[in-house]
Amino acid sequence: MSEVSFFHSDESIETNFRSIFLLGANTATYKFALAKSLLELKENNKTFVSLDELSPFFSKHLVEHIKQNKKQLVGKGTSKLLNALYLYSQEQISEDLMLNVTKNEGFKIVLDAFHNLPKRQRSISFFEKAVQDKKKGIILTDSLFQLLDSSDYENFFNEIEGRWNLVESAWSENHLINVQYDTNTEQLYYLKPVSNNSFLHSHLRTNLTPVRKPLNGYQKGKCFYCNKSISIESNKKNTCDVDHVIPMSIQYASKYDLQLNEVWNLVLACQECNRWEQGGKAGNVPLKKYILALNKRNEWLIESNHPLKENIIFKTGKTSEKRIDYLLKRFEIACDIRKESWSPKYTYKD
Ligand SMILES: [Zn+2]
Repeated sequence: MSEVSFFHSDESIETNFRSIFLLGANTATYKFALAKSLLELKENNKTFVSLDELSPFFSKHLVEHIKQNKKQLVGKGTSKLLNALYLYSQEQISEDLMLNVTKNEGFKIVLDAFHNLPKRQRSISFFEKAVQDKKKGIILTDSLFQLLDSSDYENFFNEIEGRWNLVESAWSENHLINVQYDTNTEQLYYLKPVSNNSFLHSHLRTNLTPVRKPLNGYQKGKCFYCNKSISIESNKKNTCDVDHVIPMSIQYASKYDLQLNEVWNLVLACQECNRWEQGGKAGNVPLKKYILALNKRNEWLIESNHPLKENIIFKTGKTSEKRIDYLLKRFEIACDIRKESWSPKYTYKD
């Protein structure tokens, strides 16, 4: 097995949990709100959690998004819930009333649908529906408690939020085709054509999300090259870098426009692998196996209906054959300029 094989699907608790919020069309946002709520039960040492107790967590996350004027889809027959959350966000109804509506209307779909994955698969269960002392609620499973102790625990919040933001952007702008990447701020953004009367700028720049979050869903908190644990939070000892697999130095040396500053070419790497002063890749071209791993990552984003799917297809090709050709063509050009040579000094096991 090569060191890039850790991306193969595995059945770990963490992978199951990520599948819930990363895979599928995610046409509803209640999954994100419930996933965050479950993570927040870390301090709660009981196995039974009533809907009364769950409602404040669940509604808080939805209200945060509603306050930012972001459209939410929470499933059929839940307009009462959305109305109540909206009115509460406008300070037109009391918190008690909002929580009462959440308890009665908010969980009709999400508890049953939460573990559903594409193609009629189901994740392992993180909770079961239950009734105790005539109160409706959920019983937390051992899998959830293991998840709460996972070393990925902190990253999960960011990953869920990143996915949630991308899904909302996808709804409001149809397609995320024109996503661009800003190397200075590490933000994804897109340029939206503006109306006739704002003629000073041909495009309006809209920030989408920091790029680390959507990329980490695939990498699961590990460096793309050496598999070392990385953090997507800023200012941590192991904070990751955003790495161009085919380095930008190739772009500057090439007479072709290779379009290397795009999502299809971006991965998360540890500082040792990325930075020149630490013996990292810097302007060097990595071994071909990393181009193949990059292709696998891009195909995964497409197959899992990731919100960046349309962008990658638009940039690199409509079929998997065209997309691998697109990557290999650029790799060949890069090797003509600077021979492939780089690989990490050390690779870590899972
Ligand atoms: Zn590394």
